[in-house]
Amino acid sequence: MESLSALTKGIDIESDPKGFFNAALKVHEKFMELFKDGGQAEAAAKAREDLESLENTKLNIAVTGETGSGKSSFINALRGLGAEDQGAAQTGVIETTTKPMAYPHPSYPNVILWDLPGIGAMDFRPESYLQKVNFSRYDFFVIVASERFRSSHANLAQEIQRMEKKFYFVRCKVDEDLANARRAHPQAYVEENVLQRIREHARKCLRDQGAIDPQVFLLSNWDLDQYDFPLLEETLEKDVPHLQRLVFLLSLPNFSPEIIEKKKSALRGHLWKISLVSACINVLPMRGVSLACDVGLLLVSMIAFYKQFSLDDDSLAKLARQAGKPVAELKAVIVSPQGEDLIRDVLMKKIVQVGCSLTHSVEQCFYFVPVISTLAAAGLSFATSYSILSNFLEKVAADAQRVRKKALE
Ligand code: GDP
Ligand code: MG
Repeated sequence: MESLSALTKGIDIESDPKGFFNAALKVHEKFMELFKDGGQAEAAAKAREDLESLENTKLNIAVTGETGSGKSSFINALRGLGAEDQGAAQTGVIETTTKPMAYPHPSYPNVILWDLPGIGAMDFRPESYLQKVNFSRYDFFVIVASERFRSSHANLAQEIQRMEKKFYFVRCKVDEDLANARRAHPQAYVEENVLQRIREHARKCLRDQGAIDPQVFLLSNWDLDQYDFPLLEETLEKDVPHLQRLVFLLSLPNFSPEIIEKKKSALRGHLWKISLVSACINVLPMRGVSLACDVGLLLVSMIAFYKQFSLDDDSLAKLARQAGKPVAELKAVIVSPQGEDLIRDVLMKKIVQVGCSLTHSVEQCFYFVPVISTLAAAGLSFATSYSILSNFLEKVAADAQRVRKKALE
């Protein structure tokens, strides 16, 4: 089913309606071929289960390290928040709390970043620390450090590994390190050499003190597109199980053009599931009801795309504030249909499809289904839903790229 994406790629219904219907025809053929012996209802039930598990997938990320190292700023950066945004973790403050603080992602409350108490105390004991913060709750640990390496980092890393969990060593504020190095040695300054020295030093310290195969990432919380954040993202993608990987990816801010592309291809792999569920709603006997459910499911999915690409009103308002631009300027580059236009657009296409199956004169619309059977009706619905979603996904991803560019201008 995943191979469907090649059939509809890059087809714009407004500028190329014939192309849209031809793509839908191919999708329909594929559907009929796949389900000629039945089984679409079971496949739809499985697809629905998959979509539900995705919705219920939880990810708990522990962020630990010394006070002042940039933990809270890192948490804000991952949640797409600036320090002054509502709900942001407070930064630049001395922590007094001894309890982990939960920071659910604003659009994905199932992704929770935990700001753990600082590990700086002289009598730091990793074992009792991990017990106190309820270590089994977390899927993995991020140990945040800045400026100096401390033995508490290595002790904690070792204990996390002993407990059979993963840790990632994140060295924040490298923008400052680079600025200092440039100031101190303007002639000999080479950015990559400075970064490599910091990386190697942290790796060596961790290894020398017993951590196995430590992974070190250098980053600036002010600019996730720079340094090793993209590598950290890729590493996490490889390490965490499939559904969590997807949820994590979708929850990330659009920090680079590549991440937007990645979100798009990850979502593409799910379109057939949504379409199949929507198609199998359509073969229910009460057509009026099924059309409403079918369209409802599509709209819910499409509205979710807006969130996944940070194009919802809340995300746009935050981005506008961070970029120091009026939100209208960002909205002006969005071309995909929104609100009432979106509903009208989806309904129109779906009504054409229902009209086809009711009149049995499909040739008038899609000119390709000879006799409308239940399976053919489902196939028609699948093909329309898939093409609508695929078309919309392309547009929303392109919008996200334009909005990102505009914000950076
Ligand atoms: P925490 O105590 O570990 O939660 O650290 P905070 O996130 O509160 O950060 C401590 C200070 O470092 C604050 O003044 C932040 O603005 C600053 N800071 C955090 N991350 C970075 C970074 O990547 N680069 C720079 N230059 N400053 C940072
Ligand atoms: Mg803090």
